[in-house]
Amino acid sequence: MPKTVSRKALFTVALLCAWAAFWFPTYAAQPRAAARAPGAETRAAGLLAGRELGTTPLLDDLRELCDGIGGRPTGSQACERAVDWAVGRFRAAGVNSVWTEPYTIPGSWAGGHDQAECLAPVEFPVRVAAAPSTAPTPGGHALEAPLVNAGDGSREAFARLGDRARGSIVLVLSPEMKTEADLFAEYTRDAPLLAAAQRAGVAALLVQSTQPHLLLYRHPMGLGGEILPLPTAIVAREHAARLARLADHDEVRLRLDLPSRVGGPFEARNVVAEIRGREKPEEIVLIGAHLDSWDLGTGAEDDGVNAALVIDVARSFQALGLVPRRTVRFVLFTGEEQGMLGSAAYVLRHAAEISHHVVMIAFDTGSGRITGFYLNGREGLRRPVDQALAAVAGLEATDDTLEAIDGTDNFDFLISGVPNLVGRQEWAPYLPNYHAESDVYDVVNGRQARTNAALAAVLVWGMAERPEPPASHQTRAEVEKLLRDTKLDEQMKGLGQWDDWVAGKRGVSK
Ligand SMILES: [Zn+2]
Repeated sequence: MPKTVSRKALFTVALLCAWAAFWFPTYAAQPRAAARAPGAETRAAGLLAGRELGTTPLLDDLRELCDGIGGRPTGSQACERAVDWAVGRFRAAGVNSVWTEPYTIPGSWAGGHDQAECLAPVEFPVRVAAAPSTAPTPGGHALEAPLVNAGDGSREAFARLGDRARGSIVLVLSPEMKTEADLFAEYTRDAPLLAAAQRAGVAALLVQSTQPHLLLYRHPMGLGGEILPLPTAIVAREHAARLARLADHDEVRLRLDLPSRVGGPFEARNVVAEIRGREKPEEIVLIGAHLDSWDLGTGAEDDGVNAALVIDVARSFQALGLVPRRTVRFVLFTGEEQGMLGSAAYVLRHAAEISHHVVMIAFDTGSGRITGFYLNGREGLRRPVDQALAAVAGLEATDDTLEAIDGTDNFDFLISGVPNLVGRQEWAPYLPNYHAESDVYDVVNGRQARTNAALAAVLVWGMAERPEPPASHQTRAEVEKLLRDTKLDEQMKGLGQWDDWVAGKRGVSK
């Protein structure tokens, strides 16, 4: 269970809210564009926190998104409905403008009714879920073939199998996922695993689920939006273990049916809403989360709750009549699950004004408590974050880290030189439900989501209100150094993003 806010913290915030409520009439009565008395910014931060900790429609929005629309992979009708729904929510909030931005994804993929069955030496049904971005079984029909156990799926393991792998369904075993490091390891294994499997001429690949209790999840095998030719599925952990034991002693035959639908390029849309700044409208503070999700669950933790948070922060600014010094953009990206394609498209589309983005703030770890922020290699952001969050010091989100992460929508901003922050959150309840059937409304910690929204609102306000930008825009040489210093270059190589950076397809050019 995730930790919740301490009683002391709640008391501090309650005091702050009472104080803010006392001052609110004075503040709200001021003309919006007029110079404000010292302390007005802090009072506004208190008001925002108070509102978010109260009874905003954040959880109602999340319920509509998860239960009413459901799992929403980019390219699905559900994702299109979610985009229209989000536009409607921002409009209802009353922000200055709302629009969508189309971009192209190179290949479409939609999961079907996946089935597998062990045929020999004993018959039993096997739970499987096709891996996104991988081909269906040939002809869209079931495939029957011998199953062989390729252990950890390393090059050496395939070498030991020799010719037995050719034309077979190959089973690869996985360690159980206990930490976020295990999650990253699962992704970095994919490229060499696919290469070894294709060299060996396998017919299909079954990868053991890293989650116990027969839980299935979507595990994309590539992060470029292209369709990979080898039919691949995640197989329930306990079923995989049984198949492996059987295969060690007997000939095992399996029927596998992965009727995924694949297609060519298609158009997806990001949602952008904006509150124009009163003094520096050309300078932009961006808060973002991703609206798309996988489809086995309903994308509550990943990342519906934070999409609802972004909408809620916009609504609170409007409801309180707060017009920040800088422009605030509230962006709900799609294509994140295909490899952060929506945020990459945003950065390309806004190349001419990307250096006016003074900070990008992303949230993508569900409703786990925000303990601080990833500074993503930018030490200069530490103080501005502390200053912005001073108004909600009782919430104790001070555990900032210089560490940089690759794996959500801040990434293309980072390599484009934009100062960027990612909420550093406790990993539960996100991690045990990652991309899984169990990522549904019920697992979200609603009280914590509200506290996170309070922190997010206050941070955005502080960044938009401070006299100077929180940090400078970086040149290519500075980004290159940051990538090396934070070892993000190694992650980029592991995730297949490094070549695009070197070739100048992604990231700042000078
Ligand atoms: Zn996510």
